[in-house]
Amino acid sequence: MSTPVKQYYALQGKKIIEAFKKRNIEAYYCSTKEEASKQILQLIPKNSSVSWGGSMTLKALHIQQKLQEKSYDVLDRSLAKTPQEIEQLYHDALSCDYYLMSSNAITLDGKLVNTDGTGNRVAALIYGPKNVIIVAGMNKVVADENAALMRVKNQAAPINALRLNKNTPCTKTGKCGDCLSDDSICAHTVITRMSRIPNRIKVILVGESLGY
Ligand code: SF4
Repeated sequence: MSTPVKQYYALQGKKIIEAFKKRNIEAYYCSTKEEASKQILQLIPKNSSVSWGGSMTLKALHIQQKLQEKSYDVLDRSLAKTPQEIEQLYHDALSCDYYLMSSNAITLDGKLVNTDGTGNRVAALIYGPKNVIIVAGMNKVVADENAALMRVKNQAAPINALRLNKNTPCTKTGKCGDCLSDDSICAHTVITRMSRIPNRIKVILVGESLGY
């Protein structure tokens, strides 16, 4: 049976999908992560080249393994054996057919807000891969751009910095110290207002709490 939270997520999801449409972003709502995995595989034609940015959401879906098992040309930098191979895969990912990632925050009016350290993920979001599929739990939804930036600075980034064992102020205090540390995972913040190429960016909203 659908819980009040699920019902709330579904109602919000409907509204956000309408907002994405106005921004040339194709969007889907899936009630569970299992449905979301199926939706991803339906969106990607066989034999496409596929890569992804670091994401706890994608990990929770086990989508990387599912892609490896099917007929896709998977560019997986975790399988690289040397730093040179990793570097090459970072570059190759920027011209793949489908790039998967999550979003640090999504506003109710359909904007995506993302902050990166290396910048490979936001680079792919902006330009390069023919298609970008964003998978995000409804816990990432916030009211507006300001709330999205607050979410990134004071929730997503500190938790990711802790996960990655970074030596930054946020891993000591739990809140952003606006650092310029070598370990900072906040070098680039990108706000995506629209997709200039219609439907190049696709968003799958998931009616669950996923990632940070
Ligand atoms: S303290 Fe540094 S790494 Fe942590 S959230 Fe702030 S800018 Fe990002």
